[in-house]
Amino acid sequence: MEREELSAQFLISGFRVFGEAMRLHDARMQQILPVPINVIEYVESDYQDQIASPSHCSHCNDTQGLCRHGTYGRWISWCLETVRILVARFLCRKCGRTVSCLPDWALSYRRVNVHTTERYLEGERADPEISHWVIHLRSYQKRIDSFAPTLVRSVNTGLGVPPSKPGQPLWPWIKKAYGTLQSAARQLVSTFRITLFGRYRCHQPCGFDKPHSAGMTGG
Ligand SMILES: [Zn+2]
Repeated sequence: MEREELSAQFLISGFRVFGEAMRLHDARMQQILPVPINVIEYVESDYQDQIASPSHCSHCNDTQGLCRHGTYGRWISWCLETVRILVARFLCRKCGRTVSCLPDWALSYRRVNVHTTERYLEGERADPEISHWVIHLRSYQKRIDSFAPTLVRSVNTGLGVPPSKPGQPLWPWIKKAYGTLQSAARQLVSTFRITLFGRYRCHQPCGFDKPHSAGMTGG
């Protein structure tokens, strides 16, 4: 076979793989699941295997056909360590999309867990755990600040009167509405399909075709 022909075939197969990857990426939905145990207990008990199928597909709302569809791994902070957890995934037989169930102490696309992040937003700086993750946490704060105008516009007055002055911190408003960051992260996704850091395709219903928000750092 000629070299040009081989190159062309390589390119075509590359485009096919890329196209398939994009299709699969678009097919993934994420739900935030309340989990009553901590990160280590979750790992040690293989909790991902005990999670029941979601009651409905968050993409097409079908209530019949969700079946277990393996897991994917992602990293999350635990004290000064990073722990790999497995996230349960389910497949909708009707629309062919997958729905993953992210434990609610994990933030979408953020490595540092929700409790440590909340303590940073509360102003804690001296604790060794905060110091250990401070580079990540600073970037989270920066991202929250830059996304704040979009978040406020998106939820409108759904969380009470939002901060009115530019640059006013967002966290006290969110805290007043939801109490904890854990609750806020879960309910912002379920109610408004948004996070404190951005709006992501994996939280959007059928037909959403906006580009990804910036700031994604992994599953
Ligand atoms: Zn579906």
